This record gives sequence, C-alpha cells and structure tokens, in this order.
Amino acid sequence: MLARPGLPEFEYHQAHSPQAVFDLMAEKGADLKILMGGTDLFVQMRDRSTGSGTLLDIKGLPGIKEIIFNAAKGLKIGAAASLNSLSSHPDLSTHYPILSQAADTVGNYQLRNRATLGGNICNASPSADLAPALLVYQGSVILDSPRGERELPLDEFWLGPGKTALTPNEYLKAIHFPLPPDGAVGRYLKLGRSKMGDLAVVGVAVLGYPDPDVPAGTSFRIGINSTAPTAYRIPAVETALAQNQISDEALYKAAESAMDISAPIEDQRATAEYQKKMVRNLVYKGLKDIWETLK
Ligand SMILES: Cc1cc2nc3c(=O)[nH]c(=O)nc-3n(C[C@H](O)[C@H](O)[C@H](O)COP(=O)(O)OP(=O)(O)OC[C@H]3O[C@@H](n4cnc5c(N)ncnc54)[C@H](O)[C@@H]3O)c2cc1C
Repeated sequence: MLARPGLPEFEYHQAHSPQAVFDLMAEKGADLKILMGGTDLFVQMRDRSTGSGTLLDIKGLPGIKEIIFNAAKGLKIGAAASLNSLSSHPDLSTHYPILSQAADTVGNYQLRNRATLGGNICNASPSADLAPALLVYQGSVILDSPRGERELPLDEFWLGPGKTALTPNEYLKAIHFPLPPDGAVGRYLKLGRSKMGDLAVVGVAVLGYPDPDVPAGTSFRIGINSTAPTAYRIPAVETALAQNQISDEALYKAAESAMDISAPIEDQRATAEYQKKMVRNLVYKGLKDIWETLK
C-alpha cells in the first residue's frame, strides 16, 4: 500500500439551517464529521487517522462567518470565520490584537483562506496557534444542539489532544469574548522550526493591563501551547506577578516558574528539555515587552 494512499470515499453534504445539521447528525451518528476548511480533516482522512464516511459542510449556516464587535458586550466570531478574516479585521487589530497576530502565524496565506477559527478549536491540537490567545481573552465556545445553545469556557472545552467536550449531536456555532480590560496590550510569540508556516514548538500569548486593584499595579495573563495535552494558562504565576512589585528579576522568576510548570513530551519537532527552556525564554520576552509598553 502507498504511504499516502489518497482520500477514502466519502459523502459530501451541505447544511443551510441548524435543523438540517441536527437531522443529518441523527441519521449518520458517529460516521458524520463537520467540515470547515478541511485543512486538518482531509490530512487526517488521508492518513486514515479519522474514519469518516460523511462530511457535513456547515459554512453556509446563517451568520457562521460573521465577526461582530459590540462595545458593551464584547466580540462574537462565527465558527467558520477564516483565519485571514481574523488577521485583517479592524476590530480585532484594535481590541483583540493577539487573535490577529496568532492567526497570521498559521501555515501560509492560501491555507489561512480555507482554515477557520472553529476548525482550529475543534481539532483540539495542543499546538493550535489560536489557543493561547483564546485563553488570555477568556474566550468561550457557543455550542448548538437540538437541546438549544450552551456556552462553555475554552479551558473546559479542550479535554486532551483531539478531545473536546462536544457531545455527539452538537456543533460549534461561535466563540464569544468579553471586553478586554482597559489599556490592555498583548503579544503572541511563536517558535517553530522555520518561519515558513511550521507548527508551534512553543507559542506564548501575554496580555498585560493596568490594574489598580493589585499591589503590582499591573496584571498579566499568560497562555501557552504545545507543552501539555491542551493549551493552558498559568494562574499561580499570574497571581504571584500581580502580588509583588514588577522588576526585571520578578519577570524572569515568573518565566522560570512557567518553565517548571510546563510538561512537554519529546516529539519529532523538539526535545522536551528544549521546549521547557523555550517556554521560559518566550514568557520572559513576552512579559518584558508588554511591561516596557505599559510603563
Ligand atoms: C500545511 C499546513 C500547515 C498548518 N499550519 C498550522 C499552524 O501553523 N498552526 C496551527 O495552529 N495549525 C496549522 N495547521 C492546522 C490547520 O490548518 C488549523 O488547525 C485550521 O485552523 C483548521 O481549520 P479548518 O477549518 O481547516 O478545520 P477542519 O479541518 O475543517 O476541521 C478540523 C476538525 O474540527 C472539526 N470541526 C470543525 N468545525 C467544527 C464545528 N463548527 N463544530 C464541530 N466540529 C468542528 C472537524 O470535524 C475536524 O475534526 C496546518 C495545516 C496544514 C495542512
């Protein structure tokens, strides 16, 4: 057999209403997979790591590509919004710039025209580039099923590599973000093996903002990918930073704590030891950069 035997046979369907999605889900059960850009799914089908006889394209659902910013409610991004639409959206560049920065680091321009935010989230890869930004902006997923909609914070949605809290008759409809704190500044730092569209060896999102309620006067949120079964925040480190006066030494200590907490596994892209050290370096670089900007 060829190492890359091509795609297996599959049925292709489109849905233009949520009811049509639920009906086909009920009919096909586990055989059905939602298709967005297909940039993860087709690779998995080709490699036979996902068996799927039925693909349901939901990019035609009403509103599923919309990006809506509301100065009182925050941001809502439809699951089928392409990554290029995130990089170029003025409301994201102004209010949620780490989402645009992270989207820009994925693959290449052509891929980002197909790849969607919903696909990046539902694929649940530990190295997903959007994940650290989604966490520091406190994103939550809006899931739709015949029972109605429910909203779940992203840190409860990702359960492990390739595993999510989606139930069999549910799909991801949109992602909701509260307003970012006033004066917030953010940055996504990604280390790949090359600058030409590689997956993250380590990716770190840092968000900082003036916070008169904490002794440091500034609060930080830190999101990290690729170094645990899911992307994660490091609340203990964030709290320690907020409780003490900020100095270069304090930032470096926080970065060392981030390194200690990280739990990467060795893979074809990097050794675990290298990844841990890069967590320290990127967290330090991100914190320092944001601190200098806020000062
Ligand atoms: C060459 C190449 C380079 C890449 N580089 C990067 C990179 O640098 N960084 C990175 O993070 N990723 C990268 N990827 C992975 C991929 O492009 C992204 O994860 C992308 O965002 C996936 O989106 P998609 O729309 O193509 O998802 P799809 O492949 O369509 O779907 C992915 C999975 O999510 C499920 N799904 C999708 N939408 C929904 C929904 N609404 N409800 C329920 N389930 C759903 C699908 O059934 C499938 O299991 C790369 C892929 C390739 C092929």
